[in-house]
Formats: sequence, structure tokens, C-alpha cells
Amino acid sequence: MNTFQALKEELDRVCPGLKIKEQEPMSLHTSFRIGGPVAMMAFPMTTEETVASIQAARRLGITPFLLGRGSNLLCGDGELNYFMIKTNPGLTQLERVGENAILCGAGVPMRQAANFAQKHGLSGLEFAHGIPGSIGGGVVMNAGAYGGELANVVKETTALNRQGNVEVIRGEQQEFSYRSSVFAKEGSLVLSALIELRPGDPAEIQAQMDDFLTRRKRTQPLEYPSAGSMFKRPKGAYAAALIDKCGLKGFRVGDAQVSEKHAGFVVNRGHATCQEMLTLVRHVQKTVKDKTGFQLDMEVITLL
Ligand SMILES: Cc1cc2nc3c(=O)[nH]c(=O)nc-3n(C[C@H](O)[C@H](O)[C@H](O)COP(=O)(O)OP(=O)(O)OC[C@H]3O[C@@H](n4cnc5c(N)ncnc54)[C@H](O)[C@@H]3O)c2cc1C
Repeated sequence: MNTFQALKEELDRVCPGLKIKEQEPMSLHTSFRIGGPVAMMAFPMTTEETVASIQAARRLGITPFLLGRGSNLLCGDGELNYFMIKTNPGLTQLERVGENAILCGAGVPMRQAANFAQKHGLSGLEFAHGIPGSIGGGVVMNAGAYGGELANVVKETTALNRQGNVEVIRGEQQEFSYRSSVFAKEGSLVLSALIELRPGDPAEIQAQMDDFLTRRKRTQPLEYPSAGSMFKRPKGAYAAALIDKCGLKGFRVGDAQVSEKHAGFVVNRGHATCQEMLTLVRHVQKTVKDKTGFQLDMEVITLL
């Protein structure tokens, strides 16, 4: 019996009725619309099922991956030997806590959390409204935009560490930095986040979110599948400006293309493969390094 068959039996035992798909195409679950079949994907409906699925995998020596909205993920074209656990709808609690805080399950879309805060007259999450990821994916990456980032508002995070223990990590222990966190460094799985906001006028909050969305639509190629910014911002420069300066706007490998609208985005113009994306990325990295001296590191997570 192979490991995934054993995992299926174990999941049947500990989570009877859990929805599982084998050989599920990752192209259906990533904003790039790229990715081959993953060995197994589970769709827990509750926190308990999510945690039990994670623990079942670990008992069998399989490293589980939590999958949010797939908006920062480039998956390989061939068979992917992983166990993916979707965080939505299992981890979707969303509630006000006390005067100024909201508790968000990892699977809650950032847009939904921002809308919830707006309705409750709580300000501080406006920047996250247009980021198409989940709260869990956002906390891990310390997602940010327009001068805001989750590091500024996430007071504490409940996560499952590599040893399988649930722990609450507070304040500076979360080690947020540019597009990273202690959860990314240690491979912990984020279950929920307590987000502390401040009172604000719902109409003003809405106007700010609308303004950010208008700016996004004007400057980003939202009409094509992408994973947002392909590269991290190098110290002292902007990736998009460097790529543009090197004449790479519109550069294409098959259906993978440096966006003509925003050089920091790489878009899928139809049927791009992961291979095409990576060939394009390597070309951009080499050209930018040779011409400007800056090293561009990928922001998007690659799973091969
Ligand atoms: C059009 C577009 C615009 C974007 N704009 C921005 C932007 O302005 N700012 C920005 O920061 N990002 C932006 N992004 C990128 C992306 O939305 C963010 O990085 C987001 O935080 C990813 O969340 P996700 O749920 O989609 O993560 P996924 O892509 O599902 O996962 C990314 C990684 O995080 C891991 N992960 C997911 N959930 C968890 C969890 N609960 N616990 C542990 N690990 C987890 C996954 O295993 C994977 O390794 C943009 C993307 C697109 C497509």
C-alpha cells in the first residue's frame, strides 16, 4: 500500500465523511490557472476536521500543505506528490471580539475580513481589501499593499507547529518582516488570527477601499491570471522599475508574459505552463542582474 492510500484509510478512520479528491488538478485551485494533479486534496468542513487531517498526515510522515486561495502559488506541470488541505470552508470563523478586534479563521478571504471590519466601523484592514488571498496565506506572507501590511494589525496568531501542538503566538514573536513571518520560517500552519483595529467611519473606510480598488484596476493586469507581484522588492529599488528599465515589459516565453501593464506581474496569456513561467523568471533574473546588479528573488511560492 502506498503512503497516500494509507493516508486515505487513516482519514476515513479519524474523519469519516471527509471530502477527499485524488489527482486533483492544481490549475483549478491557483490564480495562475497552472498546475498538474496533486496526489491528494482534502476539504475539511470544520477546524476539528482540519486539525485531524493535519495530524493524520503527520502520523504517516507526510508533510501537509494548507491551501488558501492559491493566489501566491506556482505549481509544477507534472504529478505533485503532496497532501493539500483547503482552509476554506473549514477555517472560516469571523467574529468581532471586544470593542476593536476581529477573529478571522485562516480560510477567510482577506476581502471578506476587510468588508466585515468596514461594516463594524473598524479601520485598519482597508489595504487588504483588494488582495485576493486568505487571512492564513496573508499572515504567513505578511501580505501588504498601499503602505499597510498584516504585521501592523495582527495581534496574535493561533498556529499548529511542526511538533503538532496548537500555540498562540503574540506580537513580536510573530517575527513579521517583508513578505515573511515566523510561520513561513518554521513551517507552522496558521489556524486563525486576532486582528486589532481602531474605530472608524464606515463610509470613509468604504471610500478608502474603493480608492485602492480603482488604483489596482488602473495599474494591474487583473484581466489575466497571475499571482500578483512575481518578485520581492529588492532593497533600494522596485522590481517592476528594474524589469521595465531592462526592456522586458511584454517579454514572453510561450504563454507566460511579463505584463505590458505592470512589469512586476507575470501573466498567463492562455495556456502557460510552469516550465514556461520558470524559464521566463530565470531570464528576467539574469537580465536584471547583468544590467543593474540587483538580484530579484521570487515572491511567489513554487511547488514542484
Ligand atoms: C491579482 C493579485 C494581486 C495581488 N496583490 C497582492 C498585494 O497587493 N499584496 C500582497 O502581499 N500580495 C498580493 N498578491 C499575492 C497573494 O494574494 C498574497 O500573497 C496572499 O497572501 C496569498 O494568500 P493565499 O491564501 O492565496 O495563499 P496560497 O497561495 O494558497 O498559499 C501561499 C503559501 O502559503 C501557504 N499557506 C496558505 N495558507 C496557509 C496557512 N493557513 N498556514 C500556513 N501556510 C499557509 C501555502 O501552503 C503556500 O505555501 C496578489 C495576488 C494576485 C493574484
